[in-house]
Amino acid sequence: MVTEALETLMSYNLDKLAVGVLGSHSALQILHGARKEGLRTVLVTIEERIPFYREFKHLIDEFVVIQRWSDLCSKNVTNKLKKLNTILVPHGSYVEYVGLKCAEEIEVPIFGLRTLFKVEASQREKMSLLRRAGIEVPREYRYGEDFEGLAIVKLDGAKGGRGYFLAKCRDEVVEGVEKLIKDGVIDGSDSVLVQEYVVGVPAYYHYFYSPVLGRVEILGADIRYETSVDGLKRVPPKLMEVLSAKPTFVVVGNLPLVLRESLLPKILDYGYRFVKATQDALPPGIIGPFCLESIIKDDLDIVVFEFSGRIVAGTNIYVGGSPYSQLYWDEPMSTGRRIAREIKLAVEKGVVDRVVT
Ligand code: AMP
Repeated sequence: MVTEALETLMSYNLDKLAVGVLGSHSALQILHGARKEGLRTVLVTIEERIPFYREFKHLIDEFVVIQRWSDLCSKNVTNKLKKLNTILVPHGSYVEYVGLKCAEEIEVPIFGLRTLFKVEASQREKMSLLRRAGIEVPREYRYGEDFEGLAIVKLDGAKGGRGYFLAKCRDEVVEGVEKLIKDGVIDGSDSVLVQEYVVGVPAYYHYFYSPVLGRVEILGADIRYETSVDGLKRVPPKLMEVLSAKPTFVVVGNLPLVLRESLLPKILDYGYRFVKATQDALPPGIIGPFCLESIIKDDLDIVVFEFSGRIVAGTNIYVGGSPYSQLYWDEPMSTGRRIAREIKLAVEKGVVDRVVT
């Protein structure tokens, strides 16, 4: 819990702080960044991943090996992490691997806003936080409601787009959801979100909110490479019918993106709005990395359909820094390294409690 985690932090030797991370997602980037900033590093992983991470042992001071990911919250493991003065950095796989309860309640300090995990688990709550921030979002339809145009149907949780589908009318929504239930992808109690499908190009912005400097930085941007929607572009329209292919949205990787500079003021404004909304709704508000996921329309309107309150995998493109992080820091500053820099700055200024929950 937050208070226990803060009490744990008080007992830490701040000269020997370690950054801890689960072996997945953006762990290597985070470990690399911590090393660059002279912090100690802890990798928590299951046995079968050890051979892979051993290849990077020059980045890792301590391995904490667990049987199952959910063991992260066992007393044995949390005691080890506390002894190593660990600040845990949650990434995109964190909640998915250890479960919401452990993710939220772990007594080890977390670099980030742990009360946001629950909001992130619900598509509906996510959208309502974005609306509260005054950020433009797609229209939302009730399940079973008629609509015009195209809708995208989404499932709860970070499923990497898996199971999402497009529907032209309410009956297609209902049929699609019933099929997902029949196939065991979801059960009847899972909630689905039916959202206007916005036509334009996707763009994902990597932000960093620094409680120490009191500013939002844009550290990079990417687009996701999704199968099959991105592959279908290669098929001539006349052949689409033969394939009877339906677009799906399973993420397989990320591509770098540099934006028109004239778009950046709005993107930065969205970042500040999002930070303010989290501060109002969930004090102390977001800490460190987050991502707004958008479609940019042909009138250059930016519609945000999703956010992530943690480091996103798209930042892995920029382990050596991005065209934007270069402008703020003039050195190779990845998001992983920026996290470690924030911890260091907070320690130097005596405000380390401001960067963890
Ligand atoms: P998500 O898991 O919410 O990031 O969505 C997966 C993918 O679905 C995105 O990368 C987009 O390609 C697409 N997508 C999601 N929501 C919308 C929307 N409202 N309009 C258009 N495309 C969307």
